[in-house]
Amino acid sequence: RPNMPPLENFWMPFTANRQFKAAPRLLAAADGMYYTDIDGNRILDGTAGLWCVNAGHGRRKIAAAVERQLATMDFAPTFQMGHPIAFEFAAKLAAHAPGEGQARLDRLFFTGSGSESVDTALKIAIAYQRAIGQGTRTRIIGREKGYHGVGFGGISVGGLVNNRRVFPQIPADHMRHTLDIDRNAYSRGMPAHGLELAEDLERLVALHGAETIAAVIVEPMSGSAGVILPPKGYLERLRAIADAHGILLIFDEVITGFGRLGTPFAADYFGVIPDMMTTAKGITNGTIPMGAVFASRKVHDGLMHGPEHQIELFHGYTYSGHPVACAAGLATMEIYEEESLLSRAGELAADWEEALHGLKGHPHVVDIRNLGLVGAIELAPRAGAPGTRAYDVFVDCFHKGLLVRVTGDIIALSPPLTIEKEQIATIVSTIADALKRAA
Ligand code: PMP
Repeated sequence: RPNMPPLENFWMPFTANRQFKAAPRLLAAADGMYYTDIDGNRILDGTAGLWCVNAGHGRRKIAAAVERQLATMDFAPTFQMGHPIAFEFAAKLAAHAPGEGQARLDRLFFTGSGSESVDTALKIAIAYQRAIGQGTRTRIIGREKGYHGVGFGGISVGGLVNNRRVFPQIPADHMRHTLDIDRNAYSRGMPAHGLELAEDLERLVALHGAETIAAVIVEPMSGSAGVILPPKGYLERLRAIADAHGILLIFDEVITGFGRLGTPFAADYFGVIPDMMTTAKGITNGTIPMGAVFASRKVHDGLMHGPEHQIELFHGYTYSGHPVACAAGLATMEIYEEESLLSRAGELAADWEEALHGLKGHPHVVDIRNLGLVGAIELAPRAGAPGTRAYDVFVDCFHKGLLVRVTGDIIALSPPLTIEKEQIATIVSTIADALKRAA
């Protein structure tokens, strides 16, 4: 393959690295709903890159905004100074923030990624409690199967054991509450169940003492664990328990933010307002790396003006409010608004559900889950070789011109919100064919 570069030096993310090296797949260009690989093959993007390219690829408006900003001012610090575009972008995002009054999440802290947003939110939570005179609240409760990025903060509260197996000392003063929602309480044809799992938070509060707990962090819909949906009423119950005990509720909306479920945020979709939301990915349509923590006015004001707010605390990144990322983000938000993309997943959700459930009864399929424009097809694992069957389906789909994501034996889907109905049909038929071929 004449266009293949040397493969030794780029130390790729560890997962399945060997499998890639054995059969390299290199994406070289992207436009609209499609990638093109180095051999010139077109590949339909069923995953919006990595759950991030919500408005589709190759947006000229974003490219032009980035180019303009680079030519005007490539970088400026946000320490003891600022620049207009960071404030403009924060105001633009704030206009979409959920919540009312002091619970409104319109105080924005900019980061460079989802993992940094998580670290930031965890630190704000503990610092906020201290600033309001609750300095014993230093613990954060995460969740079984939770994914919150790969920073030390994120793996401390994350519930995917492989992500922290070799760092046993890390979750020291943190803990997870053992929530194991088995598949989907919203799944078609399944009875609502699992709400009682929220009571586990009550159990942990009683066990450790509310006065030791600063916050609880959950993905409103777990993405990386394989698209696990919350039982009906579950998030409401978490909110009520957190309120009763002075614990902050943090939604990790890195995947669900920016229209993935048909509303700006999952908080809007479920009608449950957290105290903070962590975001990244779709904030710049996956172009320039960026993240943001949306904090409530209550949290912001408590941390900045609480009775003990003078505690020395430094937090911020070189790239907090990076002007080029803000320019990309502003253009992205304009596209979302102009094309009503933040509600489009809701308009397509019924067709999406119907199409995905057409895979029921196909070889190896044991469960199908969907919410907004997210989907998961769970396969029966091969005896003695978990994960290999879904991986084979992923490779087969790739060679037939469709990009999906695999996690374990689950095929996850989250196409750009610009997808057309014919492309939904192509996704389903390509997966159906791959399932037929899969041993
Ligand atoms: N939180 C969630 C819920 C995520 O899905 C991800 C990334 N998939 C992250 C945090 C980490 O984001 P990043 O990879 O940008 O650090």
